[in-house]
Amino acid sequence: MKTALVCGAGGFIGSHMVRRLKDEGFWIRGVDLKYPEFWETAADDFVVGDLRDPSLCRQIVDRRFDEVYQFAADMGGAGFVFTGENDADIMHNSGQINLNILDTCHKRNIKRIFYSSSACVYPEYNQLDPENPNCSEDSAYPAQPDSDYGFEKLFSERLYLAYHRNKGMEVRIARFHNIFGPYGTWKDGREKAPAAMCRKVAMAPDGGTVEIWGDGNQTRSFLYIDECLEGTLRLTRSDWTGPVNIGSDEMVTINALADMAMVIAGKKLKKDHIQGPLGVRGRNSDNRLIEKMLHWRPSRPLYEGLEKTYHWIEQQVRKLKSDG
Ligand code: NAD
Repeated sequence: MKTALVCGAGGFIGSHMVRRLKDEGFWIRGVDLKYPEFWETAADDFVVGDLRDPSLCRQIVDRRFDEVYQFAADMGGAGFVFTGENDADIMHNSGQINLNILDTCHKRNIKRIFYSSSACVYPEYNQLDPENPNCSEDSAYPAQPDSDYGFEKLFSERLYLAYHRNKGMEVRIARFHNIFGPYGTWKDGREKAPAAMCRKVAMAPDGGTVEIWGDGNQTRSFLYIDECLEGTLRLTRSDWTGPVNIGSDEMVTINALADMAMVIAGKKLKKDHIQGPLGVRGRNSDNRLIEKMLHWRPSRPLYEGLEKTYHWIEQQVRKLKSDG
């Protein structure tokens, strides 16, 4: 039986990855500060622990895993990473997790490890035009991410690549672009745009208003979780290191994302544009490299994933209201 270690298995992407690997017949150990919030973990063994602690890392890496996935990070949407208030925690916590787990795997002679980097590594100066952002993999340098979250990701990418060059580690690095779907954070400040939009639309009475940060003309693309998992598995099992974008190239404005959520909800709402943390002006996944190297690219339309996500969040909102 194949075995996998999933770090960050209590989080959004990690908890989905555990299920996907379980469906493939793996024995899985998950590790996180917490159990998944919205569903039961499918891991065979789930360790609640802190990956900033090197002794915890030694304890969980007690065997040769066939696959190791590193999703753990101090992380959130724009309301968490772009205010500047959490920079020290983000850099310290995520940096330490990566330093620990990578070195522990090296010492245990586990060669292959997947690392989840982010589109937030791309320089702000290439993402000022909402119609025409440049997010090709080779554009990450000269570095100028617009957040310390992006700088930590860039540092950790380099750390993994250095272990690859100097110590023979078979690292696999993806830069995720806005992954979304059910069973993810949808309120309380760490949620990302699609979940926040679904929540706002689900909570508003028909004819009411929905608040949007900024003028809503900023552009983004959003990738449904199942496609993210597929790309991640294909990269991890390939013989290529990356870094590579795993994202959708269906770019939309935030206003268009709101309109889509309203169509799904069957509601007509007014948009109230308010001040808020925004991030870069435009961002889209450039999928040429993944297509060339892995002969694969995500292909499902945004609407399809948003519909599934909206229905799950609407259910959560109803539950919240009925719990008083
Ligand atoms: P998430 O916040 O849902 O999951 C991260 C998990 O890491 C959380 O469950 C958290 O408790 C855990 N964690 C944090 N500190 C820890 C510690 N010290 N010890 C053990 N566990 C710890 O985030 P996610 O959306 O599932 O993202 C997973 C990874 O993908 C992260 O590295 C993130 O930066 C990256 N990423 C995600 C997106 C996205 O759109 N979701 C985009 C780009 C990159």
